[in-house]
This record gives sequence, C-alpha cells and structure tokens, in this order.
Amino acid sequence: MAMILDGKAVAGEMEAELKLRVTAVKEKTGITPVLATILVGDDPASATYVKMKGNACRRVGMDSLKVVMPQDTTTEQLLAKIHELNNNPNVHGILLQHPVPSQIDERACFDAIDLKKDVDGVTCLGFGNMAMGQSAYGSCTPQGIMYLLEKYGVELSGKHAVVVGRSAILGKPMAMMLLNANCTVTICHSKTQNLAEMVQQADILVGAVGKPELIKQNWIKPGAVVIDAGFHPTDQGGVGDIELHGIENIAKAYTPVPGGVGPMTINTLIRQTIESAEKSIQTT
Ligand code: NAP
Repeated sequence: MAMILDGKAVAGEMEAELKLRVTAVKEKTGITPVLATILVGDDPASATYVKMKGNACRRVGMDSLKVVMPQDTTTEQLLAKIHELNNNPNVHGILLQHPVPSQIDERACFDAIDLKKDVDGVTCLGFGNMAMGQSAYGSCTPQGIMYLLEKYGVELSGKHAVVVGRSAILGKPMAMMLLNANCTVTICHSKTQNLAEMVQQADILVGAVGKPELIKQNWIKPGAVVIDAGFHPTDQGGVGDIELHGIENIAKAYTPVPGGVGPMTINTLIRQTIESAEKSIQTT
C-alpha cells in the first residue's frame, strides 16, 4: 500500500512549531508578526481564501491586516496601496490575492511588493533568486510541496520529475525547486504532445493543471510519488487534477485530495511571514 503524504497532519504539526516562534518574537521584542492581505473585488472564492489565511495567522498568534479594495480599482490605486504597505514597518508580509480584476496589471502589482515582504513568492526577482538557488521566499504551493516531500523523506536526487502545468505560481517554480533538488525535470503544458507518455516516465509526478482528473490513473508508473495540487469540489467532497481512485495500489506515495497539498500552502505563507518578521528584528 502506498504511503499517504498527509499535508493536513504535517501542517498541523508545523503550526505548533510556528506558534512557538511567534511567541519568541513577541517576548523578545514586543512585536507581533503581521501579514497584510489585499483582496481586490468581490470574487467569493478569493474572499474565502483570504479569510482562511487570516484565520491561520490568528491560530499561531500573528495578526493580519486586511485590505479590501473595490472591483473597479485601478492599477495605480493598487500600486499606491502596495507602496504604503511596503513602507509600513509593522507589516512583515504582503499577500495580494490572485486573481485581481482584469483591468489591473497584476504582474506590475506583484512586482511592486518589496522583496523582503514577498512572503507569497510572487515577484519576478524572488522567482529568479529562488531559481538560482539564492535565498528567497518560494511560491507557497510548490514550497509547501517541497516541505511535505522532505518531511516524508522522499528521495529526489536523480529522479525524473514530471510537472504538468507551467503557471507562474505553481508549475514553473515547482520545476525549478525540483531541479535544484537534483531531479531531472520535464515540464508539460497545454501544447505538450503525448502527455500520457510523458507522465508514464515520472518517478515524481506533480499535477498542476486546474482540470478535474485530467491525468489518468493508468498513465502512472508503478512506484511513482504522486503529488496532486488540484482541488475541484464535487458532491462527494472533491477531486484533484489526477485520477486518484485506486492510486494506493499503484503509487509509492501520494497526496490525498483534499488534505494533501492545500494545507501546506497556507502553512508555508505563515512560516515565511514569521521568517520575515524574525529577519526584520535582526536588522533593526
Ligand atoms: P493555471 O494558471 O490555470 O495553469 C494551468 C497550467 O496547466 C497551464 O500551464 C496550462 O498550460 C496547463 N494545462 C492546461 N490544460 C492542459 C492540458 N490539457 N494538458 C497539459 N497541460 C495543461 O493553474 P494554476 O494556478 O497553476 O493551478 C493549477 C492547479 O493547482 C489548479 O487545480 C488549482 O486549483 C491548484 N492550486 C492549488 C493551490 C493549493 O493551495 N492547493 C494553490 C494554487 C493552485 P498552458 O501554460 O499551455 O496554458
């Protein structure tokens, strides 16, 4: 039977450790780490994600500063808000909830976030530093996946990793992180030919396509480590981007959906904000 890479359990354990770090910062300096969250517009899913992130801050004793901006916000208005948060010494991390309304230049706004406060790992510069193996906050979902693999002692060096998806927040940084961990990496996307053949070669498979069960169970190599970043709600609870039914008899290890990758993402955001607060103390 395959090992379950239980993100919910690992995130829970890590949360206890994060709570101690927040307490230490508070006791040493009287400072409470703060994550500023920016929600632009009225997308209900985004509002839920932001709320979950605020709740996670409270669970570890941090504060969140919630900024809500209207649907018709301009790029200039959002940039001005980001600059204000960059200059606020009480803010240690900035999260701009993706996606923003279409009239806004999202890339320009992400890149306006001060690198020291880019705890969600969305800036081009942060991505570049991470890719070059320099110190940087990684994009939270792939970074959370890396923590999970490390926690379960999954060996990566020399393995063939196949990442299906190449988005800026998930597929691309995931591929770079696996490359830095000495995997041989193949990146697949919507123009890839013979996706099934590519997936069949994976020792480590990451599904990050945003399409319910696009990656079929019978494509998966026996003994592979299967990471499913997707989540699509269904009447039965939800499915991921990979067909996981029966996977326990094929894979060596896999992330369940839900309860695998999702909890690690928020946990990583919180961890990186605490790290930023700790660093800000060291430099003052
Ligand atoms: P995205 O921006 O929509 O990117 C999807 C990627 O999949 C694109 O690179 C696209 O290729 C590729 N793709 C689409 N159809 C394909 C096909 N038929 N064959 C091969 N590749 C295909 O999505 P995302 O933001 O990266 O998210 C991916 C998944 O992860 C979603 O299910 C999302 O819900 C989930 N997610 C989970 C978390 C979490 O915390 N658990 C966080 C973020 C995302 P092109 O580049 O060619 O268009």
